[in-house]
Amino acid sequence: MMTTAQASTPIEHNAFLPTWFGVGGTADALARPDTIEAVAQLVREHHPVRVLGDGANLLVDDDGVDGLVLCLKRLNTIEYPDDTTVRAGAGVKLPALITETIRNGLGGLERLGGIPATVGGAVAMNAGGAWGEIADLVNTVQIVDPDGAVRDLDRAEIEFGYRSSGLTRCVVVRVDFALTPGDPETLRESLKRIMEYKKNSQPLAERSAGCAFKNPVVAGERVSAGALIDQAGCKGLRHHAAHVSEKHANFICIDPGGCAHDAIGLMEMVEQRVRDAHGVTLEREVVIWRRSR
Ligand SMILES: Cc1cc2nc3c(=O)[nH]c(=O)nc-3n(C[C@H](O)[C@H](O)[C@H](O)COP(=O)(O)OP(=O)(O)OC[C@H]3O[C@@H](n4cnc5c(N)ncnc54)[C@H](O)[C@@H]3O)c2cc1C
Repeated sequence: MMTTAQASTPIEHNAFLPTWFGVGGTADALARPDTIEAVAQLVREHHPVRVLGDGANLLVDDDGVDGLVLCLKRLNTIEYPDDTTVRAGAGVKLPALITETIRNGLGGLERLGGIPATVGGAVAMNAGGAWGEIADLVNTVQIVDPDGAVRDLDRAEIEFGYRSSGLTRCVVVRVDFALTPGDPETLRESLKRIMEYKKNSQPLAERSAGCAFKNPVVAGERVSAGALIDQAGCKGLRHHAAHVSEKHANFICIDPGGCAHDAIGLMEMVEQRVRDAHGVTLEREVVIWRRSR
């Protein structure tokens, strides 16, 4: 069913929410705005508002979600305001942006190879890994704030941290990245090496949201959550259709036919085992969407 709450952006009801886990309920309401002003208007008119990126770090509860979900895939422009800046709409897919900037002889983003995301989701989560994080390349972020105002934020105004940006209450609508000129062939080789590493160390053929838990700080040092989970004997641990990957212990995977509660139950089991084995409380990296009432 579809209704039109305002002139330009139709609202879909009981809308399917595509995520990499491939489970979970529908959105009571979903809009696909195609301009930043339309995003701002929707934010002013609806509460709560959630933003769907590529769904690569998202677990939607089996009961679905209330409020309005914004899908920003139509904010998909890529521009080059100067020789070393790329300006991307929040809905641009990160892997596509990496390929395009490499083709244009601009380096930096290839360090984020193998991370499924939209530009908005990657910046909101400060996606990254062993080769760096997206915050390293951000120059300016345009947001719609919770009051529906469009604002430009300089890098220095954004409180980027490990897998966080402080922007989750806002809607990231556009990002300027500062890149470095480079030889496309060399950049392509570098991307290939990173992708090879990930192919060999991550269960990419299975349905997951990447790392389920953040790497915790233990005795002042950030340590691998995957190693703690592995040492706690969780590899291969199962809860209904969800299991801990044998290839990478921080990946929770769901078999076809499974549901969100299988994954949530398994995360709780892993948390308990790691607490028992190491005295460490894991923090979830995966974002779980639930009804607010
Ligand atoms: C196989 C696999 C490998 C992965 N490897 C990595 C990795 O190496 N490093 C890493 O960091 N992550 C990794 N991830 C997790 C995921 O790719 C990142 O967290 C990514 O940033 C999610 O982006 P997304 O667009 O899919 O966001 P979503 O999953 O759709 O959303 C995640 C959160 O960001 C918010 N959000 C999304 N878009 C916006 C926006 N425009 N404005 C404000 N908030 C927004 C959502 O509301 C939600 O809270 C992996 C995931 C998979 C499936």
